Amino acid sequence: MAPDVRHVIIIGSGPAGWTAAVYAARANLEPLMFEGSVTAGGALMNTTEVENFPGFRDGIMGPDLMDNMRAQAERFGTQIITDDVQSVRLEDDVKVVTDSEGTEHRARAVILAMGSAYRELGLPDEKRLSGHGVSWCATCDGFFFRDQDIAVVGGGDSAVEEATFLTKFARSVTIVHRRDELRASAIMAERAHANPKIRFAWNSVVDAIHGADKLTGVTLRDTITGATRELPVTGLFVAIGHDPRNELVKGVVELDAEGYVLVEGRSTRTNVPGVFACGDLVDHTYRQAITAAGSGCAAALDAERFLAARE
Ligand code: FAD
Repeated sequence: MAPDVRHVIIIGSGPAGWTAAVYAARANLEPLMFEGSVTAGGALMNTTEVENFPGFRDGIMGPDLMDNMRAQAERFGTQIITDDVQSVRLEDDVKVVTDSEGTEHRARAVILAMGSAYRELGLPDEKRLSGHGVSWCATCDGFFFRDQDIAVVGGGDSAVEEATFLTKFARSVTIVHRRDELRASAIMAERAHANPKIRFAWNSVVDAIHGADKLTGVTLRDTITGATRELPVTGLFVAIGHDPRNELVKGVVELDAEGYVLVEGRSTRTNVPGVFACGDLVDHTYRQAITAAGSGCAAALDAERFLAARE
């Protein structure tokens, strides 16, 4: 191998990327990790307590979990660059990854772990109250909302699924939807209508979010009359979709209709030999830190086997 060609480059530093880095480093693949710049550490940098990552009996703050993963990967020799990758050329045996200064980095294998972005409402206080009442993940945070009144924004399958799941904990769940009927599949919608804890705010959008340290309520605006009203809730789940961060690889690796990177069967192999993908970048369904970490492990093992077969 030419001296400037590495074994593997990993792009993205969420649970998927760091787990791939730990495995690749411990397999002596001397990985190079691009952790990103402002968003380094991934989605969990924007949350408070993580209570469902195994191994932390009393829970752990999201940023601390990510710092631990980073330190673990570094301990085994992962080289880390704090920068966003600007472009990639992946089709040849030697892959080229270009950083923001135009410097090219080469490797025989590349692991894509750029995650996916939760769509936001775009309201001024949304970020500030994230982890303090505003959430994007019912599976992650539902438990914190026992006996509380909460709202879910959205009308598709995932919004209705989140709302239904949240009724296990909440006193009431109001689905706030901009139209006058759900977009969700008939069976999901039926289930929601039949659930006594679920209420509907039809033709409504969230106009403002209130609360000093914790969410205390939202202002709803009627999309037809323009009238506003206050909804006192201590939880707001935003379920208006996700956008996989595929900008780097559009037209380079195969994506599905929603823009997630397609992988072969249960593997992390993309349609381009030597290119592997993991975490929320490929996952429509589970979108959890532990599932992202699991697929990061699989990506490193797949890359290791790919490289061994080429030796
Ligand atoms: P991400 O964590 O999104 O990381 C992707 C990384 O890629 C980022 O670091 C980004 O900077 C980097 N990146 C993107 N493009 C580039 C580029 N061009 N160059 C370099 N780097 C790039 N899950 C749980 O299991 N428990 C929880 O309690 C929980 N709470 C959550 C709370 C919030 C507010 C959110 C948003 C999510 C939560 N989740 C939780 C879900 C969990 O965070 C995600 O499922 C998980 O982070 C996905 O991991 P990932 O590695 O695939 O991607």
